[in-house]
Amino acid sequence: MVLRFCLEDGFLRPELLSKTKGETAFFRIDDLREIPVRERDASFPFDRSLQLHLAGKKLLLEEIPFPLALVHFHAERGYIAYGKGVERRSGGYFCHRCHNENPRLFHVFPCARCRRECAYCRRCLMTGRISQCTPLLEWRGPEPAVLGRGQSAWQGELQPAQREAAGRIVRAIEKREALIVWAVCGAGKTEMLFPGIGRALKEGMRVAIATPRTDVVFELVPRLKRAFPTVPVAALYGGSQERFRFAPLSVSTTHQLLRFYKAFDVLIIDEVDAFPFSCDEMLQTAANRAKKDTGAQIFLTATPSEKWKRECLRGLRNCVILPARFHRRPLPVPRFVWCGNWRKAIRKGQLPAKVADWVRERVRRGKRCLVFFPDVERMEQALPLFLSFCPGALSVHANDPQRKEKVEKMRKKEVLVLLTTTILERGVTFPDIDVAVVGAEDDIFTESALVQISGRVGRHPDYPDGDVVFFHYGKTRAMIEAKKHIMWMNREAEKRKLLSRY
Ligand SMILES: [Zn+2]
Ligand SMILES: [Zn+2]
Repeated sequence: MVLRFCLEDGFLRPELLSKTKGETAFFRIDDLREIPVRERDASFPFDRSLQLHLAGKKLLLEEIPFPLALVHFHAERGYIAYGKGVERRSGGYFCHRCHNENPRLFHVFPCARCRRECAYCRRCLMTGRISQCTPLLEWRGPEPAVLGRGQSAWQGELQPAQREAAGRIVRAIEKREALIVWAVCGAGKTEMLFPGIGRALKEGMRVAIATPRTDVVFELVPRLKRAFPTVPVAALYGGSQERFRFAPLSVSTTHQLLRFYKAFDVLIIDEVDAFPFSCDEMLQTAANRAKKDTGAQIFLTATPSEKWKRECLRGLRNCVILPARFHRRPLPVPRFVWCGNWRKAIRKGQLPAKVADWVRERVRRGKRCLVFFPDVERMEQALPLFLSFCPGALSVHANDPQRKEKVEKMRKKEVLVLLTTTILERGVTFPDIDVAVVGAEDDIFTESALVQISGRVGRHPDYPDGDVVFFHYGKTRAMIEAKKHIMWMNREAEKRKLLSRY
């Protein structure tokens, strides 16, 4: 696609639609100091499907499957604005999509589209290449009406603690505030959102739930469709057919938020602390841009960052703490067991006796267990050692092509012992398991990782208990803080009478 413009009648005209001749007349969008704007012609019968496609987003031309002439026709009548993609600024570049200004994350290349040296942004490259000659298009016409207004069909019941959090979420949405929901693993976060989402949809608001992981999108969409059967729900993830669909309720990976601009009245961000959201400034920028200026933001987390934790506890942030699980039993508290120099032992072809005994006991009772390792190499060395007394044991890691199948085998109880890296620290739920961490002192096991790992145990109401052991070769602060965190939540739950007595 030719991405150059000329000026005709004081307005931009794409090279493809122009009658102007001669190389010199054409320039890139970034070569203009000011981009002319057109007054909106209120009587113009704009195209509704183009409106639905573009409203609330900033898109590249190739992301707009409409004829260029039609798109430009809307620009001339003030319904679409051309904006810069990558802008040259004094001392560097700026990306208007992801707000990158780190000079190392731009690359200058001989561009075939503008036939010049052209800088593109490497930071948001997975969303499609954006460069100095790539216009970013924005809808300036009226907003489409949100035809959500459906009723919630959700019949479930909330526990008292959930009800309090749900009430706070509703209030934050009504007052269009930001709210942090700090809820233990297994609190029943999704159900707590239903009253708030229901209220927002009833008011004709547009709602999005963003999550760092695609599998969570797959899991949430059917649940939301069941809860709000008359409301169109769009699933937005890389490669999804619905990526550009306008829906009152969207479930999106955090990366897909990059395309949105002031779109949502309510933006719910799940697992704020999880990779890649927490360490990725770009995604935080995206999350802020994707909501309307007056939009509400709900952050869900079981393990907020140190900073947020402090600010929540001091009352500096609007926060609700949910210390109890929906089944009202306390969180299993991790035990610390010293197991000596386990790395050395494994290298020599031996499992530390305490670890082996613990796993053997589970196998004897036919109970499933997850055994976490800090790195793939040591885990793979340990696997044959486990196989000698628990046939069928498996190991899984992030780049394992059989990752899904192995987790599925565990789910179906075809496997009793699954060795894993931190990839299974969150998201997975097996009803009745025990968990061990081998080498809990390793740096990779941060406080939040250890709290998440402990949170795998006792989630099901029929099996609310279980064993969590941190096998270590020297206690770390993270281990101690994780245990304190869990015990504090249990005390809070007790104090607020959120636990049931058995
Ligand atoms: Zn960028
Ligand atoms: Zn170019």
